[in-house]
Amino acid sequence: MSHRPRKRFGQNFLRDPSVIQRMVTAIAPRQGQTLLEIGPGEGALTEPLLERLGSLTAVELDRDLAPRLRERFGPALTVIEGDALELDPAGLAPAQGRLRVVGNLPYNVSTPILFHLLAAADTIEDLHLLLQREVVDRMVAPPGSRTRGRLSVMVQYRCRVERCFNVPAGAFFPAPKVMSSFVRLVPHRLLPAPAQDEAWLQEVVTAAFAGRRKTLRNSLKGRVAEAAFEAAGVDPGARAETLSVEAFVRLADAARVAPESRPRPPQGGERESY
Ligand code: SAM
Repeated sequence: MSHRPRKRFGQNFLRDPSVIQRMVTAIAPRQGQTLLEIGPGEGALTEPLLERLGSLTAVELDRDLAPRLRERFGPALTVIEGDALELDPAGLAPAQGRLRVVGNLPYNVSTPILFHLLAAADTIEDLHLLLQREVVDRMVAPPGSRTRGRLSVMVQYRCRVERCFNVPAGAFFPAPKVMSSFVRLVPHRLLPAPAQDEAWLQEVVTAAFAGRRKTLRNSLKGRVAEAAFEAAGVDPGARAETLSVEAFVRLADAARVAPESRPRPPQGGERESY
C-alpha cells in the first residue's frame, strides 16, 4: 500500500531523479565512510547512497515508514526509529574518523535539527542538507547582506557553508510552497575565531539581531558597555548585519561578564526562531 505523505512530519518526498543524482554527486559518498541519513522517508536518497556505500544508518520519526525501509533495503540499512533531535550523532561516529550527515530535512524542524547536530560538530566531517531556500539564503549571507541574521552568524561561526544548488518545488511530492536549496556545511576543525563563552556569544548575537533596525548600541544596551565596543574595535553606531563573525566574537569577549550577573533571558516556552 502506498504511503500518504504526512504534513506533521514535514513529508515532501523527492521525486525528481536528476535532482537526486545531483545530490549524490555533491555528497560523493565512498565505501568505508560512515553516513547518517536524517529522515529517509520512502528511501529516494537512501537507495543511491546504499549502492555506493554498502551500508548506512538512518533515523526516521514516522513509525509506519521504518518497517517499509527495512523490508526494502534489508540489513544494509540500520533504521533508528525515533526523533533526530534525540539522537546523539557522536555515538554514531566511527572510532577512527568522523560521521557524514545527509538529509532532505523536514522543514518544520530543520533549524533545531541543524543546531542539535552542530552541537556535536567535533565528530562530524560534513553535512549535506536540503532545506528551504530562504533558510539557506540566511546561512550563506555575508556581512552587509540584507538576509544576514543570527542564523548566518552562528552557522558561519562553526562551519564553512556553501550552497550547492537550488531545487524547485516540483521536484517533490507533495510540492512544498517554497523553493529549496541543497547546502554543504563543513565544521571547522579549528574554529577560526573561538569565543571565550559560546552561550554568551549566542546571547549577544541574538540580542543584536532582535533590534534589526537599531544600532548595536541600542540593541545591546544592558549587555555591552561603550568600553567593550571600544576594546573590540566595533562601531556602536553600526547595525548587526554589518558585523563579521570575528567582530561579534571580539565584542562578546570584550563584554563578557559572569553568567550569574547577566540579564535573565526572555521567559516563555516558544522555540527560538532563527
Ligand atoms: N528523504 C526523503 C526524501 O527525500 O524523499 C524524505 C524527506 S521528508 C522532507 C522528511 C523526512 O523526515 C520524512 O520521512 C519524515 O517522516 C522525517 N522526519 C520528520 N521529522 C523527523 C525527526 N524529528 N527525526 C527524524 N526524521 C524526521
